[in-house]
Amino acid sequence: MNIKHHPDDATILAYAAGAVTEGFSLVLAAHMESCPHCRGRMAEANALGGELLSEMQPAAMSANGLEDVWSRIDSEPDEEIPAATCHVPVDGVPGILIPYLPDGIDSLHWRSLMPGIRQHVINGIESGRGSVRLLSIAPGTIIPHHTHLGGELTLVIKGAYTDEMGCFQSGDLADLDASVSHQPVAESGEPCICLIATDDRLRFSGVFSRMLQPLIGI
Ligand SMILES: [Zn+2]
Repeated sequence: MNIKHHPDDATILAYAAGAVTEGFSLVLAAHMESCPHCRGRMAEANALGGELLSEMQPAAMSANGLEDVWSRIDSEPDEEIPAATCHVPVDGVPGILIPYLPDGIDSLHWRSLMPGIRQHVINGIESGRGSVRLLSIAPGTIIPHHTHLGGELTLVIKGAYTDEMGCFQSGDLADLDASVSHQPVAESGEPCICLIATDDRLRFSGVFSRMLQPLIGI
């Protein structure tokens, strides 16, 4: 798996600190099953986390606080990259997802959202005002232009899509916040299946999409 897109430093640190929703934790854990690079970053963040927290006063955090933390993490000896022993992908599906998909990803009850886009909501996962869902996007389909009121983590399970940030393929993770506006387009070939966690609602740019939003529950 040739992974090119990873979570931001701030997201890794928040995950290490246990400060993300269950939904975000699920997507991050699913990404890390196939990403030794991020397993290594997580191990480093965990190793220094307690020490940093005990030393830092909140008021002393500079504007460059995040970079300071990572430069300190980078100056420490590398932690050994942990193997993904608890969960391993099966046919490209992250192992941590399998309990939520007992009959497999191909037998899910997908609900049509709009032409070319189907969703399956994964219930019972704490997500703030957001949600955890799988989207299946038909090849060539354009998702309406939108921004986010909170954060959105998108992990590509199968297929690929392209947006303003580049091409995202199986294993790639898009880590978006409210400053990002994007319009993903599914690549040709097989449908693009993504695992998406939000911690708040999406904000669509188009009038028609905004009218649809209450109906489709995104
Ligand atoms: Zn990664």
